[in-house]
Amino acid sequence: MKIREIGKRGVLFTFEDGDSPMGCDTSVYLVLGEKRAYLCDTFLGPQWMDVIKQYLRSNGYEGRLIVFNTHSDFDHVWGNGAFDDSDILAHTLARKRMKERWEFDYSKLSRFRQVDIFMRLPNITFSDSLFFEDDGVEFRHMPGHTVCSSVCLDWQESVLFVGDLLEEPVPVTLWGDLVTFTETLKSLRNLNFSTVISAHSGVVGPELFEKNIEYIKDLLLRKEIAFPAGADDGAHPFNVKYLKYLKYEEMARAKEGESFDFSKFKREFWAFVGYDQERMAEESKIIIETPPEKYEEAWERYLHG
Ligand SMILES: [Zn+2]
Repeated sequence: MKIREIGKRGVLFTFEDGDSPMGCDTSVYLVLGEKRAYLCDTFLGPQWMDVIKQYLRSNGYEGRLIVFNTHSDFDHVWGNGAFDDSDILAHTLARKRMKERWEFDYSKLSRFRQVDIFMRLPNITFSDSLFFEDDGVEFRHMPGHTVCSSVCLDWQESVLFVGDLLEEPVPVTLWGDLVTFTETLKSLRNLNFSTVISAHSGVVGPELFEKNIEYIKDLLLRKEIAFPAGADDGAHPFNVKYLKYLKYEEMARAKEGESFDFSKFKREFWAFVGYDQERMAEESKIIIETPPEKYEEAWERYLHG
């Protein structure tokens, strides 16, 4: 665990690769405002948040904390249950997506569950932005990494926390609208904030905006993307294959409307592709390995039961 002060009122808590089960660094960001403290993301479970609660107590912020989820992925929300007495904010779609996939992620991702976890959904949602004027802190919807992604803008200190929208060397694309993802990154870049923080890459330089925008454009145009030797290319093969899989999840969602059941779709669709439930723990590996033609066959079978 690394604790780093950012400017006059920010604190970055980083769960480092090695002392967390993530296999990469993951940070949560705390802003100590005059009126309240604001915690961006809650990592993998309540006990991981003890260090932050301790920090808040020793700085006199007990009972004055607002929790914010940058998006609905498990590594950013599983610790929500640590903050019984605080409001939890997120975009409307983050709450919806979190609720929809909680059970599936909980059982599939058991290797990341080193502590007890229970579902605590955001109790305050916003659709565009929410501004705490008295502290100069804004939360704003910025879709890209996921449809529900939002950022924290500390206007007073010019610090931007982007969650998973920016990442070294490339971001993970869990949403099919890559055009909007590039628009989001361009508008964030144009804000010219002095400090930009990524949840998995820490404090990043302004050039990462260009690098990630170029990457997403290349991905969109299905260009061969060459990585420098030794660079971690883990996210890229996943992105290419995940977008092919996602098409079918989206079709099922569109077809079934209100009755769409996320866990049921996953269970049935993957069974038609040829994988049983035990393999779900390795879903990202399966996504990389599966030839996309198999999805087309599975989809036909899914449709005709
Ligand atoms: Zn993440």
